[in-house]
Amino acid sequence: MRTVLLAALLWVCACPPLRAQWYEDTQAIMGTRVHAEIWVADPVRGAALLEEVMAEMRRVDAAFSPYLESSELSRLNREGPAGWVPVSAELFALLEQSRRVSELTDGAFDVTYASVGRYYDYRKGTLPPDSVRDAAIAAIDYRHVELDRVGRRVRYRLPEVYVDLGGIAKGHAVDRAVALLQAAGVTQASVSAGGDSRIVGDRRGEPWNVGIRDPRREGAMAVVLPLLDTAVSTSGDYERFFEADGVRYHHILDPATGDSARGSWSVTVLGPEATLTDALSTSVFVLGPDKGLALIDRLPGIDAIVIDAAGRLRYSADLAPLQQR
Ligand code: ADP
Ligand code: MG
Repeated sequence: MRTVLLAALLWVCACPPLRAQWYEDTQAIMGTRVHAEIWVADPVRGAALLEEVMAEMRRVDAAFSPYLESSELSRLNREGPAGWVPVSAELFALLEQSRRVSELTDGAFDVTYASVGRYYDYRKGTLPPDSVRDAAIAAIDYRHVELDRVGRRVRYRLPEVYVDLGGIAKGHAVDRAVALLQAAGVTQASVSAGGDSRIVGDRRGEPWNVGIRDPRREGAMAVVLPLLDTAVSTSGDYERFFEADGVRYHHILDPATGDSARGSWSVTVLGPEATLTDALSTSVFVLGPDKGLALIDRLPGIDAIVIDAAGRLRYSADLAPLQQR
């Protein structure tokens, strides 16, 4: 007995001391690249936390993907036109936040864009015929999605209404992942899902460097931003697109026309939370550089960098000093 105990003690003593270090993982989830990097002392805990982050991303995707028949969002899309549908607190909150952004942006952000957007196929490179677009465009209006907060239920006012949360769900997933890391005591981390990222703390005394891709030169960066404790989202016309007759059709639609918004090549928004920066990057993209930057300048704590349709870099007022560099 005693020898066993002694052996065990010796084994414990022989282990190297725990050294804090970076643990990272990248996985393909939500149709994009999910990346997380965290500073943790214990490797077992590091691996477990990274797995929790990835599991949370998969959970959000399973709940809110419009491509999965089994998702809660797909159920709402099927049943919403027929009457009130009880939904989870999480889906209700996302729909409420979407609505607030719609009101803030005069409908530039509108999750019912998909009433027409669903008929684009970026992989095949096909767009809806005019007749289909004209028939569905009346269904684009966030007010067609009725929210009953007391009963926590939702209904659609028209049968053609179809909701896609692609402009806000990745930001939400990133915020959820960051919340679980912070609850576990992590103070230095970076989590991203495609173009939506959050930086927690600094990078061992240095800022994190987050690059904004050059929208017209594959693999090149247009700007690199040194950042601390912030959310940053980029929307670009180069993510999912095809060209037909010399016109670029991409995945961010102007709800007023059902056609791709063409005022910018790329929009990056900085702010405290990724759910909001995600929705706002899509919004500013739709609004175009002038109206979009004017909106950002009215919102305290939010900044933006736009690469306009002439390839010029434009900054919101608080970031103007960057322009002079
Ligand atoms: P991604 O990271 O997928 O490039 P973005 O933040 O750029 O995401 O948003 C693009 C997504 O937003 C589209 O794929 C679509 O799901 C959704 N979307 C497109 N147009 C609008 C709109 N006008 N309002 C709200 N969501 C939109
Ligand atoms: Mg967005």
